Amino acid sequence: MINLDGNNWLLNNQCLVCNLHPGEPLICHACYNDLPWLDHRCPRCALPRALDSPHPCGHCQKEPPRWQQIQAACHYDFPVNELISRAKYQQQLHFIPLLAELLLDAIPPDQRQVDLIIPVPMDRQKLRTRRVNHALLLAKQLGKALGTPVADHHLHKVRYTGQQKDLSRRQRQQNLKGSFAVKGDLPARVAVVDDVMTTGATLAEITGLLLQHQVKEVVGWVVARTDA
Ligand SMILES: [Zn+2]
Ligand SMILES: [Zn+2]
Repeated sequence: MINLDGNNWLLNNQCLVCNLHPGEPLICHACYNDLPWLDHRCPRCALPRALDSPHPCGHCQKEPPRWQQIQAACHYDFPVNELISRAKYQQQLHFIPLLAELLLDAIPPDQRQVDLIIPVPMDRQKLRTRRVNHALLLAKQLGKALGTPVADHHLHKVRYTGQQKDLSRRQRQQNLKGSFAVKGDLPARVAVVDDVMTTGATLAEITGLLLQHQVKEVVGWVVARTDA
């Protein structure tokens, strides 16, 4: 059923995943229900677990993260990984509103109250190749839906950190040290938005920095979470 080819949705307002079911906005019911939803997750780090529990996973109990919580919509699996990669590497930006909707659906209504939404920034070099920061586009969609201000001028990536794909969690942490900077006054509760969370090293670095600048609580909002 899943057919990400073609761009017929443009003409017929079809489901962005299967390209069928004209008239349905963004995604049809069947594709929506089939998404790799991250239903049971640790409330602190969003790693998957067998059953829902209000208690953090063993890892978070042993080494509590500096952020307050992570809200993640889906496992980083097909077709969500494909949607993200199309938006990110092929500039198929029409997938952004769908990704934002999935993320919004995964955030419980009582957890949506933040003072400011900040996208994970991109360094200049990456911005030149990708042309646009997808995290900013996602953040804007969420801000519009929630009526929450979005700002990308407070947090900056000041150093190019290269590809992190093949680095371990510890190497990533090392690599990211001092690569972000904060400008201006920040409110108490901030949501940091990104498309994918892998080891959490980026969010940990950003959280540490924000907590040194007036911010009291950081929550992470990501569309997808890798399973390890
Ligand atoms: Zn569909
Ligand atoms: Zn955890």
